[in-house]
Amino acid sequence: MKTPVLYIVIPCYNEQEVLPVTSPLFLQKLEHLIEKGRVAPESRVVFVNDGSKDDTWAIIQGLAAQNEHFEGVCLSRNRGHQNALLGGLMTVKDKCDITISIDCDGQDDINAMDEMVEQYWQGCEVVYGVRSKRDTDTFFKRFTAEGFYKVMNWMGAQVVFNHADYRLLSSRVLREFANFKEVNIFLRGMVPLVGFKSTSVYYERAERMAGESHYPLKKMLALAFDGITSLSVKPIRLITGFGFLVSVVSFIGVLWAVVRAIMGATVAGWASTTAIVCFMGGIQLLCLGVIGEYIGKIYMETKARPRYIIGETTFEETGE
Ligand code: UDP
Ligand code: MG
Repeated sequence: MKTPVLYIVIPCYNEQEVLPVTSPLFLQKLEHLIEKGRVAPESRVVFVNDGSKDDTWAIIQGLAAQNEHFEGVCLSRNRGHQNALLGGLMTVKDKCDITISIDCDGQDDINAMDEMVEQYWQGCEVVYGVRSKRDTDTFFKRFTAEGFYKVMNWMGAQVVFNHADYRLLSSRVLREFANFKEVNIFLRGMVPLVGFKSTSVYYERAERMAGESHYPLKKMLALAFDGITSLSVKPIRLITGFGFLVSVVSFIGVLWAVVRAIMGATVAGWASTTAIVCFMGGIQLLCLGVIGEYIGKIYMETKARPRYIIGETTFEETGE
């Protein structure tokens, strides 16, 4: 087998504090893999600047000028983690044989890359980085994050438990992935849909080396909601089932009321009636909201706007 060219793709958003700390670590890892002969010398570390408002892009440009192993891709504006990562992967897919995507904050153990590359040599084209435990997280983060995967799976979005966006993908997988044209993207739920031989590699996740998380609870909920609604229609089915159940129950209630009226026993309870009406009103609004969410998604998909726009890169023009 030919020694693969590896591109490590790293989305960065306002990471000026982190980059100077973690970029040498990524470079070291790449050089180590090159030395061992597991990846080719033309391998690169590619930073994707996701419309940062700080000096991130200047830092990336500086790195690219300093060392031939560093490259940068700059999006025209902030598009969010998933789109930035996709933009990076699509930019490099024809330049390399394998990619590893990883966050730039040093939380994911870069030493798992050796094992990922090893698995590629063994014939796997998708290698998921899976967190073995969550000791370094606060109880709140652990609770919400694990709940996230459970709810996702329950709602019919099949995702690898405790796998975020740290994974190896071969260029063949990426070429197939390029045919997934949807605008609402949730990479970790979509990669399994591509297929090919896959496996997992386990690692422990550390704390952020600097800066702050860009995934507070609100964004995490939004990501979970996106993941569920872009991968499954189960919520709509649940609503249909619930509507059916409520209809059956109320039908029985009506029958019961009629029987009682015939027997001459009129019921006073207006308060309970009002409570039920309000409750049902609330449920109906919720259901309309969920359905509206899907219609919104369809609206975005029909427009088929670009998912990201590349402003500039540090790659040399190849005249293609
Ligand atoms: N990120 C990005 N665009 C955004 C938000 C985040 O490219 O709009 C990047 C960020 O720079 C980091 C990765 O996505 O490399 C994960 O973000 P973060 O570490 O804040 O999330 P957490 O690890 O806390 O879930
Ligand atoms: Mg992080």
